[in-house]
Amino acid sequence: MAETIFSKIINREIPADIVYEDELCLAFRDVNPQAPIHILIIPKKPIEKVADAQADDQQLMGHLLLKAGDVARQQGCGDAFRLIINNGEAVGQTVFHMHIHILAGRNFQWPPG
Ligand code: AMP
Repeated sequence: MAETIFSKIINREIPADIVYEDELCLAFRDVNPQAPIHILIIPKKPIEKVADAQADDQQLMGHLLLKAGDVARQQGCGDAFRLIINNGEAVGQTVFHMHIHILAGRNFQWPPG
Protein backbone atom coordinates (compact mmCIF):
# COMPACT_ATOMS: atom_id res chain seq x y z
CA MET A 1 0.00 0.00 0.00
CA ALA A 2 1.25 3.50 -0.83
CA GLU A 3 2.42 5.63 2.07
CA THR A 4 -0.30 7.97 3.35
CA ILE A 5 -0.44 10.89 5.73
CA PHE A 6 -1.72 8.44 8.37
CA SER A 7 1.22 6.05 7.98
CA LYS A 8 3.46 9.08 8.48
CA ILE A 9 1.57 9.86 11.71
CA ILE A 10 2.00 6.24 12.87
CA ASN A 11 5.74 6.47 12.12
CA ARG A 12 6.00 9.88 13.84
CA GLU A 13 7.21 11.48 10.61
CA ILE A 14 4.55 14.18 11.00
CA PRO A 15 2.94 15.39 14.22
CA ALA A 16 -0.58 14.67 15.42
CA ASP A 17 -2.56 15.27 18.59
CA ILE A 18 -2.60 11.63 19.72
CA VAL A 19 -5.18 10.72 22.37
CA TYR A 20 -4.77 6.93 22.48
CA GLU A 21 -2.31 4.33 21.23
CA ASP A 22 -1.82 0.60 21.67
CA GLU A 23 -0.08 -2.12 19.69
CA LEU A 24 -2.89 -2.31 17.12
CA CYS A 25 -4.28 1.19 16.73
CA LEU A 26 -3.80 4.91 17.09
CA ALA A 27 -6.36 7.66 17.79
CA PHE A 28 -5.72 11.34 17.16
CA ARG A 29 -7.67 14.57 16.71
CA ASP A 30 -8.83 15.41 13.20
CA VAL A 31 -6.92 18.43 11.87
CA ASN A 32 -10.13 19.83 10.34
CA PRO A 33 -12.77 19.04 12.98
CA GLN A 34 -16.39 18.77 11.89
CA ALA A 35 -17.70 18.76 15.48
CA PRO A 36 -16.42 19.94 18.87
CA ILE A 37 -14.99 16.44 19.34
CA HIS A 38 -13.63 14.85 16.16
CA ILE A 39 -11.15 12.03 16.56
CA LEU A 40 -9.89 9.47 14.07
CA ILE A 41 -9.05 5.93 15.09
CA ILE A 42 -6.88 3.95 12.68
CA PRO A 43 -5.32 0.50 12.58
CA LYS A 44 -1.53 0.47 12.52
CA LYS A 45 -1.83 -2.21 9.86
CA PRO A 46 -2.15 -0.47 6.49
CA ILE A 47 -5.62 -1.32 5.16
CA GLU A 48 -6.77 1.09 2.44
CA LYS A 49 -10.52 0.79 2.96
CA VAL A 50 -12.68 -1.06 5.46
CA ALA A 51 -13.95 -3.22 2.60
CA ASP A 52 -10.36 -4.37 2.02
CA ALA A 53 -10.22 -5.99 5.46
CA GLN A 54 -9.84 -9.77 5.29
CA ALA A 55 -11.07 -12.63 7.45
CA ASP A 56 -7.85 -12.56 9.47
CA ASP A 57 -8.54 -8.89 10.31
CA GLN A 58 -11.69 -9.82 12.24
CA GLN A 59 -10.10 -9.32 15.65
CA LEU A 60 -8.51 -6.04 14.54
CA MET A 61 -11.84 -4.69 13.23
CA GLY A 62 -13.53 -5.56 16.52
CA HIS A 63 -10.66 -3.98 18.45
CA LEU A 64 -11.11 -0.70 16.55
CA LEU A 65 -14.81 -0.56 17.40
CA LEU A 66 -14.24 -1.39 21.07
CA LYS A 67 -11.49 1.23 21.34
CA ALA A 68 -13.61 3.79 19.49
CA GLY A 69 -16.14 3.46 22.30
CA ASP A 70 -13.44 3.69 24.97
CA VAL A 71 -11.84 6.76 23.37
CA ALA A 72 -15.23 8.44 22.95
CA ARG A 73 -15.96 7.99 26.66
CA GLN A 74 -12.47 9.10 27.68
CA GLN A 75 -12.83 12.24 25.59
CA GLY A 76 -16.12 13.19 27.23
CA CYS A 77 -18.59 12.16 24.54
CA GLY A 78 -20.72 10.34 27.08
CA ASP A 79 -23.17 8.02 25.38
CA ALA A 80 -23.84 10.28 22.41
CA PHE A 81 -21.37 10.08 19.58
CA ARG A 82 -21.38 9.16 15.92
CA LEU A 83 -18.98 6.75 14.24
CA ILE A 84 -18.44 7.15 10.50
CA ILE A 85 -16.34 5.15 8.04
CA ASN A 86 -16.08 6.50 4.51
CA ASN A 87 -15.29 3.62 2.16
CA GLY A 88 -14.24 4.94 -1.26
CA GLU A 89 -13.70 8.28 -2.93
CA ALA A 90 -17.32 8.52 -4.12
CA VAL A 91 -18.60 8.71 -0.53
CA GLY A 92 -15.93 11.08 0.72
CA GLN A 93 -12.87 9.02 1.62
CA THR A 94 -9.83 11.23 1.10
CA VAL A 95 -7.14 9.33 3.03
CA PHE A 96 -6.66 5.75 1.88
CA HIS A 97 -5.72 4.24 5.20
CA MET A 98 -8.96 3.10 6.78
CA HIS A 99 -10.19 5.12 9.74
CA ILE A 100 -13.21 5.53 11.96
CA HIS A 101 -14.37 9.08 12.60
CA ILE A 102 -15.60 9.69 16.16
CA LEU A 103 -17.79 12.80 16.22
CA ALA A 104 -19.58 14.35 19.18
CA GLY A 105 -20.53 17.57 20.90
CA ARG A 106 -23.23 18.93 18.60
CA ASN A 107 -26.55 17.86 17.09
CA PHE A 108 -26.39 15.62 14.01
CA GLN A 109 -28.88 15.17 11.19
CA TRP A 110 -30.25 11.85 9.95
CA PRO A 111 -29.92 10.75 7.23
CA PRO A 112 -26.39 12.08 6.86
CA GLY A 113 -25.65 14.18 3.77
P1 AMP B 1 -11.97 10.85 5.07
O1 AMP B 1 -12.48 12.00 4.24
O2 AMP B 1 -13.06 9.97 5.62
O3 AMP B 1 -10.92 10.05 4.32
O4 AMP B 1 -11.29 11.49 6.33
C1 AMP B 1 -9.97 11.93 6.34
C2 AMP B 1 -9.84 12.85 7.51
O5 AMP B 1 -8.47 13.01 7.79
C3 AMP B 1 -10.42 14.26 7.28
O6 AMP B 1 -11.43 14.51 8.24
C4 AMP B 1 -9.21 15.17 7.44
O7 AMP B 1 -9.52 16.38 8.08
C5 AMP B 1 -8.28 14.31 8.29
N1 AMP B 1 -6.87 14.61 8.18
C6 AMP B 1 -6.14 14.78 7.06
N2 AMP B 1 -4.85 15.01 7.36
C7 AMP B 1 -4.76 14.98 8.72
C8 AMP B 1 -3.69 15.15 9.65
N3 AMP B 1 -2.44 15.41 9.24
N4 AMP B 1 -3.97 15.05 10.97
C9 AMP B 1 -5.21 14.80 11.39
N5 AMP B 1 -6.26 14.62 10.56
C10 AMP B 1 -6.04 14.72 9.24
